Amino acid sequence: MTEPMHVATGVLVIGSGAAGMYAAIEAAQAGAEVLLADRSLIGRGGATVMAQMTVAGALGSEMPDHWTHHLNDTLAAGRGLCDARLARLLCEEGPDAIRQMDAWGVGWARRDGRIAAAIAPGHDRPRCVYVDFLNTGPAVSKTLRTVVNRTSGIRKAGDLLIVDLLHRDGELAGAVALHVATGAPVIIAAKATVLATGGLTRLYRRNSASANMGGDGYALALRAGAPLVDMEFVQFFPIGHLAPRLIGMDPIMWDPFRYKLGGRLLNGLGEEFASHYGAREDGAYVLTRDLATYAICKEVEAGRGSPHGGAYLSFEHCSQAALRAAFGPVIDALAANAIDLTTMPVEVAPIAHYHMGGVVADARMETEIDGLLVAGEAVGGANGANRLSGNAVTEALVFGRRAGQSAAARAARIASPPDASAGPALELVSAPGRAAASNSAAMILALQSIMSDDVGPFRTEATLKRALVRIGELAGELGERPFGEGGPFDMRRIEWFDLRNMLLVARAVAEAALRRTESRGAHQREDFPGMLPEWRVNQMVRWRDGALALASAPPPALAPAMAAAQ
Ligand SMILES: Cc1cc2nc3c(=O)[nH]c(=O)nc-3n(C[C@H](O)[C@H](O)[C@H](O)COP(=O)(O)OP(=O)(O)OC[C@H]3O[C@@H](n4cnc5c(N)ncnc54)[C@H](O)[C@@H]3O)c2cc1C
Repeated sequence: MTEPMHVATGVLVIGSGAAGMYAAIEAAQAGAEVLLADRSLIGRGGATVMAQMTVAGALGSEMPDHWTHHLNDTLAAGRGLCDARLARLLCEEGPDAIRQMDAWGVGWARRDGRIAAAIAPGHDRPRCVYVDFLNTGPAVSKTLRTVVNRTSGIRKAGDLLIVDLLHRDGELAGAVALHVATGAPVIIAAKATVLATGGLTRLYRRNSASANMGGDGYALALRAGAPLVDMEFVQFFPIGHLAPRLIGMDPIMWDPFRYKLGGRLLNGLGEEFASHYGAREDGAYVLTRDLATYAICKEVEAGRGSPHGGAYLSFEHCSQAALRAAFGPVIDALAANAIDLTTMPVEVAPIAHYHMGGVVADARMETEIDGLLVAGEAVGGANGANRLSGNAVTEALVFGRRAGQSAAARAARIASPPDASAGPALELVSAPGRAAASNSAAMILALQSIMSDDVGPFRTEATLKRALVRIGELAGELGERPFGEGGPFDMRRIEWFDLRNMLLVARAVAEAALRRTESRGAHQREDFPGMLPEWRVNQMVRWRDGALALASAPPPALAPAMAAAQ
């Protein structure tokens, strides 16, 4: 067995999206020694760098606004299930985080010298800031990378796939990792660990994810004993690009087009249809994501879809000049893909995009496990059953900052992490390859099909039960010992670890969806249409003795004084 490399740090941050980088900066600025680890290149993996659009915060730059208005909209979109303490933190501290990013030079678009804001569905006023020409996420990532690089006390480790968390008696001690570039095992001892691993949308066949978004953080937390919440609420982005072929562009890029230019959503017969699903869509973009997903899927099901199985999105009412004024270089990129929006509609359809569920945390971003903090999309509950546009980058910034502060405080408080055995995780990383193993890439595709077909935007008891059986079969095929030989960039071994997490997280999503016998927000049960008052509860999932245990609890509320002010 290859001898493991040992590393010790005050704060270990796992994941270097916006949440992880902000956490690392904040912890280092508070005096902690930080190791920022990522399975990809630092600051270039995950969703943040791909998010091309908007960041929500009540700056009041376009018209008077207050964070309580943002909170009201967030709670309404969450359909009664938001953890109001987390939603409050997001809305109250969002403007400050956005201003801090401005001071760090992110380059928010400006109008008359003030930060410009767009209106987005579900927000009651213009509240979504952006960096122009679909550059928001890359600019956020680049800005944070620059600050990480100039902040002393942060060590960076890319290509480090965290495989398991180390814990003892309910206290976290660090993690075991696989160094992807060499295949070597690494043991990291840490006084505090921040899980900032992003979401799970790689579980689905059509998704907006990058390859490292298979829900690792949720599985790591579960196996370490921390509960997850709201796992049934996977957000589908309704107007993901479907056809014609579009290379090198974000599949959810039509959203900013709709903010700026309206755009008409049409079925295969060329008819506007959103109004049939209870929404006013007269050229303005007002339909929230869950309703739009529902409306498009129902049109397709009724045989009124576009040729590739979605809906048309038309900007044919816009002149070339209007398109250029709004999206300059993007229009050239579309032209290179033979798309002229003045003469043709594009086809769009729902794609898995974001996860409302995640690790249970309090407003300090502390989990039930001492020393384990969580940040960004890995946190569950802030957005309830449905997330508003722009809230995800804001939560990554705000929760990342808070997690960094809490992690640094703990690292200053304790002398050393508990002495936990790395044995089982280490054995997995170092295990000799399994003979005649299955095709891991084909297994991932099979799982994605199961999730899309049976645990997608619409579910029934029958599809969910079928999915759970098939997920169980895949878990049996995966077995307990990794595939591959374990050398440098061994994809079969990496995919074995990916599948180990993806299958566990897929089970959590399907089991929570099966138990919730109603429809709410992003969770639509065709056999239980409509919201039920008795289901105004969150579902917690725990990993106990090799099985998932589910329980319900009312959503955490705001302090009474705050609630009265709402
Ligand atoms: C295409 C796209 C567009 C979007 N547009 C918007 C938008 O306009 N506005 C908005 O508010 N939200 C948007 N979102 C959502 C938003 O971008 C994310 O919710 C947010 O960026 C998540 O940030 P994060 O730091 O929590 O995670 P990420 O940015 O996803 O970072 C997670 C990091 O963790 C690393 N990681 C994962 N597992 C491991 C492991 N086992 N070991 C080591 N490292 C690991 C990954 O490599 C990655 O770098 C978009 C998402 C996508 C995919």
